[in-house]
Amino acid sequence: MAIQIKTAEQIKTMRKAGLVVAEIHRAIRDVIKPGMMTSALDAVAEAVIKRNGATSNFKGYHGFPATICVSVNDEIVHGIPGDRVINDGDVVSVDCGAIIEGWHGDAAFSVGIGTIDPEDQKMMDVCEESMWRGIAAGKNGAKLSDIGHAIEEYTKSQGNYGILQEYGGHGIGTEMHQEPHVLNFGKPGNGPVIIPGFVLAIEPMITRGSARTKVLADDWTVVSADKSRGSHFEHTYAVMPDGKPFVLTAFDGGKSELTRLGIEVSDLLQ
Ligand code: MG
Ligand code: MG
Repeated sequence: MAIQIKTAEQIKTMRKAGLVVAEIHRAIRDVIKPGMMTSALDAVAEAVIKRNGATSNFKGYHGFPATICVSVNDEIVHGIPGDRVINDGDVVSVDCGAIIEGWHGDAAFSVGIGTIDPEDQKMMDVCEESMWRGIAAGKNGAKLSDIGHAIEEYTKSQGNYGILQEYGGHGIGTEMHQEPHVLNFGKPGNGPVIIPGFVLAIEPMITRGSARTKVLADDWTVVSADKSRGSHFEHTYAVMPDGKPFVLTAFDGGKSELTRLGIEVSDLLQ
């Protein structure tokens, strides 16, 4: 299937969906604490979606039973919220999305709970920074594989992290998952040229150990094969008609992080 090129008007609607996702993230960050069940975080997300007149793109996706994915410690992605209790020292990854007027947003973050192992914190910091570097590399005129190359290059420069191979970023628009698939590794200079109207979800997933994963018996939860802890960050960004990026799922459009990396953010949506 061809890559869906979005108009300025369509991206404007995607921004609405992105802001709902940003609001869910903020609401979950505000309440998450030791002793909570992961199902309580799902309820928080559901309430934000409802309040905004949005719908969830996760609930019912290939039968997924919840509004968010919650993945704890050696669970990297696609964990199902339930009666698992969050403990001090845990690494919790939350992934969620929203649909407004048929257009999708998708973003994820990892957070350490209470007193955290500094090595876990470093892993999360590296994962988040690699996402920003991937977005910065995915600029107008770049080749698609420049994104994965930037993510891998930065991650490997910071330590011996495993980068998940079977999962990656994606185009997003009138469906949550569209062409192109975006690898989190690889050589630069390959694939389609990135042009205005591209909207991509960039989502590195790394572990402190092996990149190998397995799926638990629930058919969803992806864990590291060696039980090492993992991290997952994701944002949805658009290449705007002026050729500059705008991060649809970040309140500030990605301005603070991308400016730091020498990338000017579009002001067409502000
Ligand atoms: Mg996601
Ligand atoms: Mg995604």
